[in-house]
Amino acid sequence: MPFLSDTIARVKPSPTIAVTVMAAELKAAGKDVIGLGAGEPDFDTPQHIKDAAKAAIDAGKTKYTAVDGIPELKKAICAKFARENGLTYQPNQVTVGTGGKQILYNALMVTLNPGDEVIIPAPYWVSYPDMVLLAGGTPVTVAAGIETSFKLTPEALEAAITPKTKWFIFNSPSNPTGAGYTRDELKGLTDVLMRHPHVWVMSDDMYEHLVFDDFEFTSPAQIEPGLYDRTLTCNGVSKAYAMTGWRIGYAAGPVALIKAMATIQSQSTSNPCSVSQYAALEALTGPQDFLVPFLEAFQRRRNLVVDGLNAAPGITCPKPEGAFYVYPDISGCIGKTSAGGTLIENDEIFAKALLQETGVAVVFGAAFGLSPNFRVSYATSDSVLEEACTRIQRFCNGLT
Ligand code: PLP
Repeated sequence: MPFLSDTIARVKPSPTIAVTVMAAELKAAGKDVIGLGAGEPDFDTPQHIKDAAKAAIDAGKTKYTAVDGIPELKKAICAKFARENGLTYQPNQVTVGTGGKQILYNALMVTLNPGDEVIIPAPYWVSYPDMVLLAGGTPVTVAAGIETSFKLTPEALEAAITPKTKWFIFNSPSNPTGAGYTRDELKGLTDVLMRHPHVWVMSDDMYEHLVFDDFEFTSPAQIEPGLYDRTLTCNGVSKAYAMTGWRIGYAAGPVALIKAMATIQSQSTSNPCSVSQYAALEALTGPQDFLVPFLEAFQRRRNLVVDGLNAAPGITCPKPEGAFYVYPDISGCIGKTSAGGTLIENDEIFAKALLQETGVAVVFGAAFGLSPNFRVSYATSDSVLEEACTRIQRFCNGLT
């Protein structure tokens, strides 16, 4: 009898780890490595949020809490949805978990049965397909390539829906592309979903606040109220509030689903960290003005990186609407040989050669389900990004 379960055999370790490990090894060996792989802001958590956490500790808020969130935080989340998204939820429709990741995982675990399909536009955040597999479902990836600015078309969504489709996972702005759907583009998708009442919508709005150039963020249940009863609107404080380590995510949706998610949480992790919940409460209810300099920096860096990458021969880099990633296409580099003698057969080999020959660590596109590309996280300083672009240009100029 094998010791490890069939469940764990269904999933693979994160494909991004190979690049991360290699980058760490090169760094340890004294090589000058620039890491553009991290999926988190380089900013510190705003001071008023840290102060709220310290006050919570001093006030003894260090015990178990209600399994899926303290009432004050649930109330603040309802207020946030009303204020920012025009969505009306009651506290019993809200759940709080240990990061956005646990929220998505709980929802899939309590809804998927063997054979149930989940539509995931590709490129996708690496965890979606594996979470679906862990929960016993079948991921159905649908290509949303550079020709449609990395956005799923209504036709492609329609074609992917079957009687077995349980969820459609929607992520705008997206990790890994930064692509954000306009109101009209999203309406095109919600119109399709209205024709298929058995399909639920999991909207992962994690990058809601990180949008540029007056882009208007919208969420499916806001665009199409007819989807309200079958939409789970997911969000969290990790990215916009520079709180990745605090581990607070949340969602709102129909009561029966939210209750089931609380049940699975009660039998796995129990409440998310009490202190972090008070920090998240301050994040959602306190001043939001720190976001202005965050956004200015991210927008400036996005422009810098898009220009820098487009100056490299063989690379085409669209300018995304949000998040802190770009996802350049490297079709023009495939089949060439690097100055160090590596034949660039695919994006994984490209990323490895780039790291070995220039010290720039990026994540290859195959990890996100769409090739040949790589993902750059530009959540690092302008000077580091400038140096990285210079090295990438040199690498591409050396391809023959
Ligand atoms: N959703 C997307 C699209 C993400 O990129 C991430 C983090 O990388 C998450 C969810 C999970 O966020 P958290 O750190 O709150 O678990």
